[in-house]
Amino acid sequence: MRFVPLTVCLTLMAMAAASVTAAPWSRFKTNTASKTKNSRQEASSSPFLEEQELGPYLIRSEFPLRDVHELVQDLGELQQDLEETLRLECQPRAIQIHLFQSKRSYDDYLRIRVPEGVNRQALYVPGTDAGRVYAYRQRELDIDVRHETTHALLHTALPYVPIWIDEGLAEYFEMPAALRAKNHPHRKELRDAIRYQRWRPNLKGLESKRKLMDMNGKDYRDSWGIVHFLLHGPVEARQGLDQYFEEILSGEPPTPLSQTLRKRIPDLDQAIVDHLK
Ligand SMILES: [Zn+2]
Repeated sequence: MRFVPLTVCLTLMAMAAASVTAAPWSRFKTNTASKTKNSRQEASSSPFLEEQELGPYLIRSEFPLRDVHELVQDLGELQQDLEETLRLECQPRAIQIHLFQSKRSYDDYLRIRVPEGVNRQALYVPGTDAGRVYAYRQRELDIDVRHETTHALLHTALPYVPIWIDEGLAEYFEMPAALRAKNHPHRKELRDAIRYQRWRPNLKGLESKRKLMDMNGKDYRDSWGIVHFLLHGPVEARQGLDQYFEEILSGEPPTPLSQTLRKRIPDLDQAIVDHLK
């Protein structure tokens, strides 16, 4: 039930808002009046052709949103997917998603607002009033938007997200739901690396990364691989992830997963290789 029509999504949200036992997405029902006012204020000076509210999202686009209607539908389900998969509770107040017609338009907009984003393909910027996602139209726009919106949602569920797992999870959720477990390009990349380069995981190395700048392409791939192992590997791996999130939610610095997983799974590196090969 990945591609639920948008009208159905919105109806479900409205119904759930009135229910005591509401599903997670009901929490996203926002104050339409105040948000519309803000939207109008910002829209008056914005280049955006269309604006659409969907749960916690305010989607602004320089091109007709009907051109990306499947992506918009996907966003309606991303939070629920993420919460169910990770057993976390997101609490987004507002996430603004800005879609640009071209790289040039994206760069022009970001240059005066978020200059560090100009050389990136897409961007998530946390903020006290709203999280903001920026992306421009190209063949993989939907992947970019799901990736950056995953960051935005994840940061409302956890007070702190280590960079390697932040990126690993964003890489995981960037694919359409039906393709997530089996069809990410990283899967073949890692299989090839295991087969031809005797790849071994280096979780401790990933945990040492502190900034986005520390992460290269292989780190993204490897983070995806560890996340896949945590979500689809042995039950002990999943239990380790649950414990990790619990520790982060408690406010204490979490015990590195490289330590807790090794206690649960003695030959951890081989188990990860066996899972991914
Ligand atoms: Zn990312």
